[in-house]
Amino acid sequence: MAEHMISVEEARAIVLAHIAPTDVVEVETWRAVGLPLAEDVATDIDLSPFANSAMDGYAVHSEDLAVATSDAPVTLDVVGHEAAGHVYTGSVGAGQAVRIMTGAPVPEGLDAVVKYEIVDVLDGDGNEGSRIAFTHPAKVGENIREAGLEAHAGERVLAAGEVLTSAGAGLAASAGHEKVRVHRAPVVGVLSVGTELVGVTDVPARGQIRDANATALLAAALEAGAEPRFFGIARDDEAAIAASVHEMVASCDFVITSGGASAGDYDFIEALVHREGEVLFDRISMRPGKAITFGILGGKPFLGLSGNPAAACVGFEMLARPAIRAMRGHTALDRSVQSARVDAPIAKRQARRFYDRARVVRDPATGTLAVDHSFSQNSALLGTLHRSNCLLVVPEGMQGLEAGDMADVVRIDLPEGAEL
Ligand code: AMP
Ligand code: MG
Repeated sequence: MAEHMISVEEARAIVLAHIAPTDVVEVETWRAVGLPLAEDVATDIDLSPFANSAMDGYAVHSEDLAVATSDAPVTLDVVGHEAAGHVYTGSVGAGQAVRIMTGAPVPEGLDAVVKYEIVDVLDGDGNEGSRIAFTHPAKVGENIREAGLEAHAGERVLAAGEVLTSAGAGLAASAGHEKVRVHRAPVVGVLSVGTELVGVTDVPARGQIRDANATALLAAALEAGAEPRFFGIARDDEAAIAASVHEMVASCDFVITSGGASAGDYDFIEALVHREGEVLFDRISMRPGKAITFGILGGKPFLGLSGNPAAACVGFEMLARPAIRAMRGHTALDRSVQSARVDAPIAKRQARRFYDRARVVRDPATGTLAVDHSFSQNSALLGTLHRSNCLLVVPEGMQGLEAGDMADVVRIDLPEGAEL
């Protein structure tokens, strides 16, 4: 049985070495927002397919307006119009212009669009048959969006691995893709272990507590990009736990339990993984969340988190979240880390790595980051984690930090890879 305590980095590397991206599926393009694309996206047509107007105005021959001034305006005849979807197909001679709406194709031979607001309508309503006056020359190409401005037919517009934004989804749509390929959401099973646990709608009797972890872990799994599935509460009973775990292994890509993970009299998780699979680690130099079992059971990655709610959540954050993201094909797996000033001394009695709940704020006067570390670090408390925006790192081997020291803070409120 693995015994020694490994670092968070080692633990993470072991977890990531034992998971693989899920299979590739096709989804409606808009549903892929926030996900890395599993495949390049190319366009079948020029984007845009034709040169079009960037303004509501008049399409002209720029040379007609070369001598236009406010003292000697140039007048042109309006010979046609183009509204959205309505294309002018006639020819346009010297001294003539076409009324044009934004996005309409610029008629053959015309090379500039003058916006409506700076054109004087002399007679008529501005449409066909009107005479209009210009007081300024127009530059070649003015207010015209060239054909193929975004991309040419056959070109790649989005690359595999890029995380799809909503703008990128729109671009894929322009390129003719109603669906795109992404890695399927891994099914993540969540099981709560503990005889003292009762359901959320139950009123606990003395000695019982409501199962908070399942809801927190299902939410965290959803947030990480998984399809979470709840497998209920298992009593601290070897056979009951094994039955639930077998069911999970058979139908999930990743199995997560909370509770029963330490070395207490009724902690069966590690023994189960050891007996039926392989334990890859069972202790991490991390607080909260020291007692974490990771292994392979029935060919599936298995993460046994400790039952203390904050420890379960921090353990998930450090190990399950990057794993789920990697299964979806993300390459940005690390949260952004900032250096911030500690406002008061932080004393620690152990040499483990601490991830303390804290809140980092930028002092508007000095522009420096300061950490509010006034939260209770009791691992039974979820409210303090809820109110935190970072985990403050007290490195291994340090007895704490002095007021004024700089500390690393892991920004759990920002997406992985965020530039700070
Ligand atoms: P364990 O890891 O089983 O030793 O549990 C450690 C502590 O976390 C105990 O106080 C448990 O009652 C509590 N705990 C375990 N599972 C849950 C859960 N699902 N929800 C809330 N508290 C839990
Ligand atoms: Mg327990």
